[in-house]
Parts: sequence; structure tokens; C-alpha cells
Amino acid sequence: EHETMVSSKVQRDKLIGGLLAPGFDEQSCLSRYQSVLYRKESPHLLSTYLLERLREHEARQKKCGPHTQSYKKAIEQLKSGQGTTVGDCNYLVWVSYSGLGNRILTIASAFLYAILTNRVLLVDGDKGTADLFCEPFPETSWLLPSDFPIKQFRNFSIGSPESYGNMLKTEAIRSDGSFKGPIPAFLYLHLAHDYDDYDKLFFCEHSQQHIQGIPWLILRSDNYFVPSLFLIPAHQEELLRLFPQKDAVFHHLGRYLFHPTNVVWGLITRYYDSYLAIADEKLGIQIRVFETQTGPFQHVLDQVLACTLKEKLLPEVNAQQSIVSTRNVKSKVVLVTSLNSGYYERIRNMYWEHPTTNGEIISFHQPSHEEHQDSDKKMHNMKAWAEIYLLSLSDVMVTSAWSTFGYVAQGLSGLKTWIMFKPENHTAPNPPCRQVMSMEPCFHAPPFYDCKSRRGTDTGKLVPHVRHCEDMSWGLKLV
Ligand code: GDP
Repeated sequence: EHETMVSSKVQRDKLIGGLLAPGFDEQSCLSRYQSVLYRKESPHLLSTYLLERLREHEARQKKCGPHTQSYKKAIEQLKSGQGTTVGDCNYLVWVSYSGLGNRILTIASAFLYAILTNRVLLVDGDKGTADLFCEPFPETSWLLPSDFPIKQFRNFSIGSPESYGNMLKTEAIRSDGSFKGPIPAFLYLHLAHDYDDYDKLFFCEHSQQHIQGIPWLILRSDNYFVPSLFLIPAHQEELLRLFPQKDAVFHHLGRYLFHPTNVVWGLITRYYDSYLAIADEKLGIQIRVFETQTGPFQHVLDQVLACTLKEKLLPEVNAQQSIVSTRNVKSKVVLVTSLNSGYYERIRNMYWEHPTTNGEIISFHQPSHEEHQDSDKKMHNMKAWAEIYLLSLSDVMVTSAWSTFGYVAQGLSGLKTWIMFKPENHTAPNPPCRQVMSMEPCFHAPPFYDCKSRRGTDTGKLVPHVRHCEDMSWGLKLV
């Protein structure tokens, strides 16, 4: 009996508390069931209701997914151009757009929206998305088939007449939600950073009713728009049932959805086992610089050191003594990620040239320095994903303001990281960093509109669990 208890515990751990479905072919995606060997158990509350809804969603993806009867029917309807007949499967198509961090955040947002509205999520496998992530749903595929009939969907943008916003603007959709012409088979949702006031009406309850009956939605976004979903009255109750711990939305959805493919898992595990596994403590430092020149910049180095020393994440060095006794001290590894190698080299040198005041032994590692963002290259994206994942295995983390790359690492880790404020005028800000209120990502471009009174409003002041972000005063995040 002891043995079955042990094996059922192993089984449960492997499924990370029931978040993951059993029954996948393990070899095809080693990371899915091996992540438990690398990650600590999540301390964050996981509701059984979320687990139920995930299993329901998996059934929907299987029933309606590519190559099923329902899918073929829905595609025929899409080709006909009219959305009048009601099928049993509705879809949300995610368009690949922007950097990897942004993509991960928008897939998670789209997934939550799909759960809330009972839609099937299909992702555009373009730009390497299919090379980076395993299939998250059993016995089906979430990849949009290449014969998808709306050929121009990757070119939809703010000006497209098919967008919900533009249809409102031109009154192709009237304010009561009725259509001037025939009901379309699809709508384009433009929720990217440059969206306008009409597009933003998406987050109003009445818009949700307009959109509800449309069989196909095509979404382009580069934002984590979950916080504003929490402000739509129709979804509020459901969201609070799904996430009684409101600041763990991305944490759970991210761990559910994003399993590195075997190639990326190789990058992650070889690096981890070679350089990180041995240490008593792992500190992750993510350095993202939003400047046109490449750097390294002195003020960024100053800021990283000011933050890590002030918050005692790294010990001071002793510039007077040549040797400090190192007996019985913890070993520490620091994983640095950055497009530039300059910060890592200078910090590593500092701790080579001088002993630490407390005798701590620290080693520094940076997997890559890609110099420039190159989001269409396969190996570049794989390294970026591997580094995000490696960061997420840290015990303590320092991240950079405004960076979705950092948000993803933070969310997956489940840690409250130390976020470095964005430097202005090439000066390190003071204070250099602070600990975040919650591990959730920040929604960078939220609407500031009160749908009821039809006036502008501060959406960061409406409910206690949706607040302005630490690193971006106009952004919104769940806390
Ligand atoms: P954000 O721009 O920081 O919000 O993050 P994104 O991930 O959306 O876009 C930045 C992209 O630049 C990443 O996806 C990578 O392609 C690249 N990049 C930025 N920082 C790093 C890094 O530390 N390591 C690696 N390998 N790539 C990075």
C-alpha cells in the first residue's frame, strides 16, 4: 500500500497538482512531465474549479479541433462569409505578433478569454511558435491549419474594415449590437498597443454581447489584457471562482500552457545541470535595456549593483582584504540574461578580483548574448525561451521594468521579484528597484473608460485587485 501511495504522489506531482492532464505521450514532450524535477512545487492556491474548467476546455478542443467534423462545418461557414447558422463550436484565432514575451502573455490572455467564452483556441504556428511549445491539449492540435481560408489574417491591423472597432466606427455594427449587413462569420479583434477608442470598447459588457454569437474571432495583440477582463461584469464572478488567488492567473495558466519542446528542453536542462544545479541558492538577474544604442551602459550596471546590494541579494565585496575565509558558507549561482554580455562580465570580474565580505562564493553565468532582438529566427527564439525558463527556476529574481520577457519568467516562477525601475536620461533611478506587489504581468495599454457612464475613468481604482503597476504608472495588474 505504501508503494501505491508513493506512486500516486509521484503521479500527482508529475501533473503539478492536477493542473496537467495525464495521457500525453511523454517522449514527444519531455518537459511536460519532467518539469517537476526542476521546479519547486507551486505554493499558490489552485482551485478545483479551474481544474474542472480546464478538463472541460480540453474536451472542447478535442471535439472542435482541426480535422473534426465540427471544424470542417465551421470552416465551410467561414468560407460562406455568413455567421447566421449557429454551430456548436466557436473559435478564437491567435495571430503571432511581437517578441516572445509578448506572445506568451497574449496566448495566455487569449486562452483565458477562450475559457470564459467557451471558444476553441487556435494559434498561428508562424514565427517559430510551433517549434517552441508542445501541444497543450491532449489528442488534438492547437495549431491553426495552414489551409485556413482567411488568407490575409496575418495582415489585419488597426485599419482593417473587418475589425470590431472599425465596424463600430462605420456603424456596420449599430450601438444595439445589430449588424447593418448580414452577420459576418468572423470578426477581427485589434487589441495591440496602438488600438483606438473603438477597439477598446471590446472590454465593455455590451460589446461582449455583440461578439458572443460570431463563430470566428481573429485576435492580434501584444498585451497581457487579463486585468481588464476582470473589470467586465459578466465575467467577474467566474474569474473569481477560477482564481480565488487573483494574483496567480498567469502563474497557473502559464504552467499549464507553455511546455518547451524537446529541443528547447535540451537547452534548458543541459544548462541547468551544468551550471546551476549545484548551488544552494540561485539568483536570476534579467537585464533588458530599451535604448536605441546597444550598450553596455554604466548607469544600467550601477542600477543592477545598487539594487542587488541594497536588497542584500548579492554581498558586498571587500576591496581592502585579499582573502576572506570561505568555510561553511552557502554557494550561490547568479544567472544573468541580457542581449549584451557587458554587465555580466563586469560583475563577474568584480567578484573575481575581490572577495565577498561574508566569504560567500558566487559564480556568474550568462547563456547567450544575442546583441539584437531577432524574433523571426528559430534558434534566437529558442534561446530566449530557454533563458526565460531558466530564470523562472531561480530562488530570487531581479527583473527589468517594462519587459514582458521578465514578466513571463516572474509569473512562471511564482516569485515576487525585484523590479528595476526604468532609467530616465541615462541615470540610474533612486531607489533602483522594489519588490513587486504581485507576480502578475502588467497590462501596458489598458482602456480608461467607464462603459456604464460612457466617460473616462481611472480603471486602476475601480476594484482592489486591479491596480496600477510598479514599473508603469498607467499600466494595470492583478494583485
Ligand atoms: P520585451 O521586449 O522585453 O517585452 O520582451 P519580448 O520577449 O517580447 O521581446 C524581446 C526579445 O528580444 C526576446 O523575445 C528575445 O528575442 C530578445 N531578448 C531580449 N532580452 C533577451 C535576453 O536576455 N536573452 C535572450 N536570449 N534574448 C533576449
